[in-house]
Amino acid sequence: MRQRISVNLAKRVKNLPPYLFAAIDIMKQEAVNKGIDLIDLSIGDPDMPTPKHIVRRMKKAVENPRHHRYPSYEGMPAFRQAVADWYKRRFRVKLDPKTEVLSLIGSKEGIGHMPLAFINPGDVVLVPSPGYPVYPVATLFAGGESHIMPLVEKNNYLPDFGAIPKNILKKSKLMFINYPNNPTSAVASLSFYKDVIDFASKNNILVCHDAAYSEIYYDNKKPPSFLQLPGARDVGIEFHSLSKTCNMTGWRIGFAVGNAAAVAGLGKIKTNIDSGIFQAVQEAGIEALNTDDSVLKKIRDTYQERRDVLYSGLTKIGLEARKPSATFYLWVRVPGEFTSSAFVGHLLNNAGVLGTPGNGFGAPGEGYIRFALTAPVKRIKEAVERIGKII
Ligand SMILES: *Cc1c(COP(=O)(O)O)cnc(C)c1O
Repeated sequence: MRQRISVNLAKRVKNLPPYLFAAIDIMKQEAVNKGIDLIDLSIGDPDMPTPKHIVRRMKKAVENPRHHRYPSYEGMPAFRQAVADWYKRRFRVKLDPKTEVLSLIGSKEGIGHMPLAFINPGDVVLVPSPGYPVYPVATLFAGGESHIMPLVEKNNYLPDFGAIPKNILKKSKLMFINYPNNPTSAVASLSFYKDVIDFASKNNILVCHDAAYSEIYYDNKKPPSFLQLPGARDVGIEFHSLSKTCNMTGWRIGFAVGNAAAVAGLGKIKTNIDSGIFQAVQEAGIEALNTDDSVLKKIRDTYQERRDVLYSGLTKIGLEARKPSATFYLWVRVPGEFTSSAFVGHLLNNAGVLGTPGNGFGAPGEGYIRFALTAPVKRIKEAVERIGKII
């Protein structure tokens, strides 16, 4: 008789921090089973469809047998050129599409592979918290150590580089930053990016700026690119995605731009692990990058109306929230004695409204809850009404 083998998880997977969102999923399922009419404001996934002209281009591209073969690893020259052209139009930044642009299967994939390309065991990665969970997990997978940079209200949710101990700085090789920020909705100015460049250059740290929300902004206040500053390219790389900009989360297309050595290093990992983006999707991506601003404005206006309704509604019922000038999130202070998780449970069970507990993005997020503007105005109004009755 042959024995069944024991399938053991690798330490790096066993060591993963407990996944807080899994507990929410269970609570959510229980609420749905009980027949609660759930208003889900927990997910950062646009509820609006991909603009029609992009879908049309995809339909046509899919018919082309040339696109049915393996794509090139670094992305089609035409896609990388379209990225460079978009950067020039949007940020007045000139990029060499051959050496400074890399296509990605979503920016998550590129971010997740950065530590694998640049971190040795024992190296430190500077990670903002609360923040996108991929930064610390990708660091762990590469054998690196995360040093948390707390993002707190009194610093406008910008990291305090002066608070990082010298012995940590010596081991730091990589730093993640993310503006406009998920989950706090904070934005960064060019003067902050200047500090980032000075700090990175002085300490020899590669900067990875996650700019997934650069196009989701309000009141015409366009967030800048980190690469607009002289010297940025010497220290860093910027990640973008069509996911949030064009409601394309399911398509899987993003890109990294900036420092040529960083682009090449990340590309090396990709060559060995994935085989590039389906070329038909890249064609759709070219179309997306050339989207008429009136289409994007309509998307932004929809979020802006929702933002105004949710922000003024929550404020009226006595909750303290941050009014975002970018991203589709509201970062709301938890009232009274509640913890983040307890407040999420209270809202779910007694109002049928689901938010995300701030501590799910890291310990410094405790005391907050994140609402996503990914539901229609009518449902947002209803959510506010229901919450008002139970707080
Ligand atoms: C959504 C998101 C991404 C990833 O988007 P992709 O779909 O992988 O391109 C990256 N960073 C942050 C902060 C996000 O919220």
